[in-house]
Amino acid sequence: MSVFHKLQFRGHEKIVFCNDAASGLKAIIAIHDTTLGPALGGTRLLPYATEQEALNDVLRLSRGMTYKAACAGLHLGGGKAVIIGDPSMKTEALFRAYGRFVHSLGGRYITAEDMNTNVTNMDHIRLETTYVAGISPTLGGSGDPSIMTALGTFYGIQSAVKYRLGKHDLKGIKISVQGVGAVGKHLCKSLHEAGATLFVQDINEKNLNDMKELYGATVVSERELFGLNVDVYSPCARGATLNDTTIPQLKATIVAGCANNQLENESVHSKMLKKANILYAPDYVINAGGVINVANELSGYNKQKVEHEVIQIAKTLDVIFQTAEKRDITTHDSANKFAEDRISSVRNV
Ligand code: NAD
Repeated sequence: MSVFHKLQFRGHEKIVFCNDAASGLKAIIAIHDTTLGPALGGTRLLPYATEQEALNDVLRLSRGMTYKAACAGLHLGGGKAVIIGDPSMKTEALFRAYGRFVHSLGGRYITAEDMNTNVTNMDHIRLETTYVAGISPTLGGSGDPSIMTALGTFYGIQSAVKYRLGKHDLKGIKISVQGVGAVGKHLCKSLHEAGATLFVQDINEKNLNDMKELYGATVVSERELFGLNVDVYSPCARGATLNDTTIPQLKATIVAGCANNQLENESVHSKMLKKANILYAPDYVINAGGVINVANELSGYNKQKVEHEVIQIAKTLDVIFQTAEKRDITTHDSANKFAEDRISSVRNV
């Protein structure tokens, strides 16, 4: 009985525990909310220390997908799955067994790649079910999502610059980018072409040299990064870079980047940014280009349609910024409200 009363299950529609002795599969699929449509969310494979840890992760992530899909304007709900296992032990049998579980949900959950799962794994799942995205382009897949993630982040930065600095272009705007990998490098290209001045930090020397040579970016150390005299800080590497140590150092008046989970503590650090008068573009809104890209596989991939949907990220952010200002709330709370309002309006139809 206590299961239904646990706080962490609040709002979840369905949680499925998948066990296949032959392949060694142990997975949990969590469907958080399907008001807007079937639940879409990737499958993460990790050697979780305990089943409880895996359950906590899948419940947290699936809830996050509901909010992300809602803000992205997708007609999809939120779900996620975790496979408990060693990433070096991936087999066709494991993913085909998993695909059969996904299929058994009749389309209420659609899976895709996430941490430690890739296109090959999705192609194996595809042998058992059509409820999978992120498959090979030869099978109708959408290809590398980082291009659309970068495009959405670029539009998001433009939106934030317009809102906070009143500038309609990025000419002369100084931007520091942490992480110039798959997304960061595409973002730097667009920012450079738009006339921004770039400062980059990474742990990968080659990536840094590429940005220096291609876009005239200035390479900085992590120690220098947060205190740089720039207009925008763009986190594009890892999570939790906005915390008690870094926020007081920031001279940037805008934070807008693609990294997931940028706030070490969502409640505490979104308020800290607001207090410091720093405009924060909520991570799950600005980085939705990738999920928009993959979701479009489901209706037959069309690049122009995807680009049109990715542009909407800028408009959504503008509404989120305005609501935050009007209601004197953080942009993080404003984004949550945007998602919740859309879901409840559809639920009431
Ligand atoms: P990536 O691994 O291709 O690139 C990450 C870059 O960050 C690499 O160049 C790496 O060297 C660098 N990096 C790692 N640790 C660092 C550190 N401590 N300091 C500085 N640099 C560091 O990843 P990606 O696909 O470009 O994704 C970047 C971020 O965006 C991640 O947080 C990811 O979860 C998020 N994201 C990506 C997508 C996508 O479509 N790829 C979509 C949504 C969100």
